[in-house]
Amino acid sequence: MDDSGQQKILIVDKNLVEDLNLDHFFAVDLCPICCSELNELVGNSRTIHPKSKYDFLIKKCLKCGHWFTDPTPEQNYLLKLYSEYSLSVYGEGWVNQITNNYLNHPNYQELFANNWILKKECNTSKKGNYLEIGPGGCQILKCFESLGWNCYGVEPGRWVNGNQKILQNFSKLPTKILFDVIVAEDVIEHVTNPLKMISELSKKLSTNGRIYFTFPNSESLRSKLMKTSWRMVRPIGHLHYFSSKSINIALYESNLKLYNKSNYDLLYSRKYLINEIKLNLFKLNVKIIFSLIANLVISLICMLFNLGDQWRITAVKR
Ligand SMILES: [Zn+2]
Repeated sequence: MDDSGQQKILIVDKNLVEDLNLDHFFAVDLCPICCSELNELVGNSRTIHPKSKYDFLIKKCLKCGHWFTDPTPEQNYLLKLYSEYSLSVYGEGWVNQITNNYLNHPNYQELFANNWILKKECNTSKKGNYLEIGPGGCQILKCFESLGWNCYGVEPGRWVNGNQKILQNFSKLPTKILFDVIVAEDVIEHVTNPLKMISELSKKLSTNGRIYFTFPNSESLRSKLMKTSWRMVRPIGHLHYFSSKSINIALYESNLKLYNKSNYDLLYSRKYLINEIKLNLFKLNVKIIFSLIANLVISLICMLFNLGDQWRITAVKR
């Protein structure tokens, strides 16, 4: 086959081969949160691309306990990878899942009853300005919208094209609006510089507003036991894993203060897991049933001892 033929296959099947431009990565020697140069190696991890070719270092800051990825991609290059649906940042299956979620309306009633942010914000008649970073399938955003909130989203993925208030990057947000609720679930661990991102969000927050974050917990039971085999270690989708101390530093540096901090451990809802168990019982898939039940039991133990692997953080203006 000639060069042009090979090139064509590479473009068509772009994601069958991991194709990262290493010129857009830089070495990370200082902790991205507290700037300490004292760190230790947690281990190595391949990228989440199904045909991963690259190996990254996961380091732990000895001063604040933050875990970070070395080398790390530049933010503009990351945005390019997200907008091109690179499997190095999304992993396998995720884009389809989120696009389907966006197209198929979720069960809003269940969302209102179970989502931690909706439970806190949507039980009164108050309305305001809402901003969500990385709204994915936009379920929570749509819930706020249905209650009459003025909603904006920032989403580099292109499945939300057509909604004029879902913007592809932060700079396109209206400059004069301050937001009463800002949501960044599973977002901060994906960016090159979390301090910069949190500071930018803080500037967009109204005086009495609240910011909701979720991100991985580097002090969880799973992280301590599994090290780089921990399910949240997903370079170069995930680049950061927060400790109690690194959360406090990041909020303080961004002119925010902690309002509430908890953690949880269920990657999927209890309802989803129970449905999966039933489905596999029907298929007599013993191995999968065993692993689902084991995972559910581990999650319940983690939550009982407050060692879940995902933080839920609420912050307010300092
Ligand atoms: Zn640190």
